[in-house]
Amino acid sequence: MATKHDWTKEEILDIYNKPLMELLYEAATVHRQYHDPNTVQVSTLLSIKTGGCPEDCGYCPQAARYHTNLDGNDLMSVNQVKAQALRAKAAGSSRVCMGAAWRNVKDGEEFDNVLEMVRTINKLEMEVCCTLGMLTENQAQRLAEAGLYAYNHNLDTSEEYYKEVISTRGYEDRLKTIDNVRKTNVTVCSGGIIGMGESADDRAGMLVALSTLNPQPESVPINALVPVEGTPMEEQEPVSIWEMVRMVATTRIVMPETQVRLSAGRTQMSREGQAMCFFAGANSIFAGDKLLTTPNPDVNEDMEMFRALGLNPQKAFEKKEQPQSVDAENSQFRPLGEKPKWTRPGHVIERNLQAQEKLKSKA
Ligand code: SF4
Repeated sequence: MATKHDWTKEEILDIYNKPLMELLYEAATVHRQYHDPNTVQVSTLLSIKTGGCPEDCGYCPQAARYHTNLDGNDLMSVNQVKAQALRAKAAGSSRVCMGAAWRNVKDGEEFDNVLEMVRTINKLEMEVCCTLGMLTENQAQRLAEAGLYAYNHNLDTSEEYYKEVISTRGYEDRLKTIDNVRKTNVTVCSGGIIGMGESADDRAGMLVALSTLNPQPESVPINALVPVEGTPMEEQEPVSIWEMVRMVATTRIVMPETQVRLSAGRTQMSREGQAMCFFAGANSIFAGDKLLTTPNPDVNEDMEMFRALGLNPQKAFEKKEQPQSVDAENSQFRPLGEKPKWTRPGHVIERNLQAQEKLKSKA
C-alpha cells in the first residue's frame, strides 16, 4: 500500500477525535500491517554537552537564559562516550542518541570529536543518532560519512504554535536542517512535544508537517512535556494518558512505516498507560534513568515491563543496514567553516520573557 503524503489537518483531526476504542483498533491494525507488534526499539539518550544553550525554547531547562539549577558540562570525551555506549549495549539498547545543547553545529575541534564519537559507536555495531541543533548540508554529509544512522531535529509543534514557544529561530529553519539531512543517507528522526498549552489543532498541524514530508521521517518521537522549574512552562498541567494515546495512535495511522517513539514523560505514565501506547503503535522508547536532563524510568524497570508485556528489544540495523564509517584521514569532505543560515523572527513571547525576568528578580 502506497504511503499517503497529502494528509490535511481536517483528516488528521477526524482521526484524533475518533471514539478511543475505534482509534485504538484502527491504529493497532495499521501497526500490525507494517511492524512486528512485539518488537520495540530501545535507544539510550546521552547528553554529551549539557546546558548553556543560547536558544529560548520555552520547555527547555538547557536554555542558558532560564538557569534551571542544571549541572552543565562541556563536551564529553570520546572515551567517556564509548564507555557509556558499551553500558547501554549491555543493557539492551540498539541505538545511542547523542545530544548537545547547541544552537547549531560549528566546524572545528568539537565537531571533529563528535564525528569520532559517531565512528566509535558505529564500530560497536550500534545505531548512532545525533541531535546537535541546526546543520548545513556539508556537516550532514560529514556525519553521514562518519557512519551516522539517524539525525534528530524535532519540529516540536505546529508552525502556528511554534511562535509561542521559540523566538530565536523559525519553523522553516527546522525544516531546512531536516532537508539537509535528507540529502544524505542518514535517516530522519523528528517529532514533537504535547502539553505545552497547544490545541488539538496544533497537534494535528504538527502531524501534517511531518506526514507530508516525502519520505516521512523514519522515527517520530512523541514527548509529553516534563515541566521544569525555572522554565517558562513550569506551571503547565501534565497531559493525560488519553491525550498521549490519541497522539501516538494518530501518528501511527498517518505515518504507518515510521517508528513512533515514546519519549519524555514516561515517568508520569503507569505501565498500563505505556502498554496502551504500545498497542496504539508506539514501537520505540528511550532507556536510561535520564532523558538529557529530565527523569526517565530506569533500565531494569523497562526490561521488567518488556517481560510482563512479552515485548522484545529490536536488534540494531534491523530496519536499515549499518552505514560504513570512513576514517577522518580518508574523508572526502572538507570542513567549510560555514554556519547554517537561520531566520531571527524576533517576535516576543511574553511567557519566555517573564521567566527571564523572574530569574533576574531572584538574583
Ligand atoms: S531545546 Fe535544544 S535548542 Fe532549544 S534551548 Fe534546549 S538545547 Fe537549546
